[in-house]
Amino acid sequence: MTLVTATENVAEKPVQFLKSRSVPTSAGASGAAMGDERWPASEVQALLDKPFLDLVFEAQQVHRAHWPAGDIELATLLSVKTGGCPENCGYCPQSAEFDTGVEAQKLMEVDAVVQAAQAAKDAGATRFCMGAAWRAPKDRDIEKMSELVSAVKGLGLQTCATLGMLAPHQATALRDAGLDYYNHNLDTAPEYYTEVVDTRSYQDRLDTLKNVRAAGISVCCGGIVGMGEAPVHRAGLLAQLANLNPYPESVPINSLVRVPGTPLADTDPIDPMDFVRVIAVARILMPKARVRLSAGRQQLGDAVQALCFMAGANSIFYGDKLLVTGNPDVQADTALLAKLGLKGKQVVATAEEHVHA
Ligand code: SF4
Repeated sequence: MTLVTATENVAEKPVQFLKSRSVPTSAGASGAAMGDERWPASEVQALLDKPFLDLVFEAQQVHRAHWPAGDIELATLLSVKTGGCPENCGYCPQSAEFDTGVEAQKLMEVDAVVQAAQAAKDAGATRFCMGAAWRAPKDRDIEKMSELVSAVKGLGLQTCATLGMLAPHQATALRDAGLDYYNHNLDTAPEYYTEVVDTRSYQDRLDTLKNVRAAGISVCCGGIVGMGEAPVHRAGLLAQLANLNPYPESVPINSLVRVPGTPLADTDPIDPMDFVRVIAVARILMPKARVRLSAGRQQLGDAVQALCFMAGANSIFYGDKLLVTGNPDVQADTALLAKLGLKGKQVVATAEEHVHA
């Protein structure tokens, strides 16, 4: 969840084919109404169905009109409370229902989190995000998280969090503690949602997003593809995201990582070109959002990732731990970004594939 403000470095040049549509111009505004229908799913489906190269070309045009060339955001993980979650999200190794080998851990202490945040800042991070595997934090959890948020904010870092469902007063408390961003994903289309999780509803998710917006916290919200959904469900997810008003500042697009022990472990993988299509359409629908390649990026390979960047992705999940020096995956990423001429800006964020994807 990363989330550099989407309006940073953004050119205000409208794209020709979008002129007739009421594309939001102020992602980041707070308290706006949610759920109007700027993008019917049928129109989103039509975009997904375009000839591949036409779609990628169009997405790149939108991208260049709103973002500087070569800009990419690098996001890294810190999970402050891992495992033991009572939800049954079918992709998630942190659910207590599934035997995935993930051990439940308590919430980290303030000192340990501050130490990690300081190290991240020293390594160049500008933002620090804390993820906790809760269904919905209790008020006493919010008190502890508020301490963490305040402490991290006190280091001069932007803050973000992903903690599960939030009530309005909890969102307000986190905002007052200094929370800048909140991650809460929609996962998939409403029509496919119960195939993935049934311990909470789609409306629960929308309600949390609404509460976060109403508190004036910026939103990170995306989904997962490759969970056995049909193309119409991908269109439905993208329409839901694009019709949030304003749409999210950050849109993580995950490709399912099939973790042994989870119900979706044996799902057929998505065709990589279909994944690129999802990225391209996300860029077209939400021109000012950071569109992030998140879970499953490594399995795409360099060439498909390059296509994703061409299609408008401008943020990646980077590394598998907070301090990433010497990590072979990070070395591979660094080499790929250099090959493609992409210049990263590092932020520290939670990994949606591990927490509240
Ligand atoms: S995705 Fe989040 S809510 Fe769902 S099981 Fe995992 S930690 Fe729990």
